Amino acid sequence: MPQDCIFCRIAAGEIQADLVHEDEQCVAFRDINPQAPTHILIIPRKHIEGIAKAETEHQALLGHLMLVVGKVARTEGIEDSGYRTVINWGRDSGMEVPHLHLHVLGGRAMSWPPG
Ligand code: AMP
Ligand code: ZN
Repeated sequence: MPQDCIFCRIAAGEIQADLVHEDEQCVAFRDINPQAPTHILIIPRKHIEGIAKAETEHQALLGHLMLVVGKVARTEGIEDSGYRTVINWGRDSGMEVPHLHLHVLGGRAMSWPPG
């Protein structure tokens, strides 16, 4: 695990986070700077730099992360009102943390296209 990766350190329990889900493959926690009333990040325990670096060997893990989106949204009570899932990659997206993460945002109406 890259020692300087903040999300690896959260997954390892070395940095405290407000966890809402964890299993053998991933953890989910509240974003420290929420952009909506509900803003959860879902990360694989395994360090993958981002969606652009995902390989065929990660296929089952990626599917698992998608299922956890639905599970977390259900337990957060935003399934009926709706939510948005975002995966950033690269400069134009504004990605800040180079460890794959899925944003789950809900609890307010969102505009389209995104900014
Ligand atoms: P991105 O711009 O897609 O890389 O998103 C990174 C997200 O991680 C941002 O929304 C940050 O607010 C969030 N973040 C950074 N550090 C922490 C942390 N220690 N705990 C929770 N969320 C964090
Ligand atoms: Zn990492």
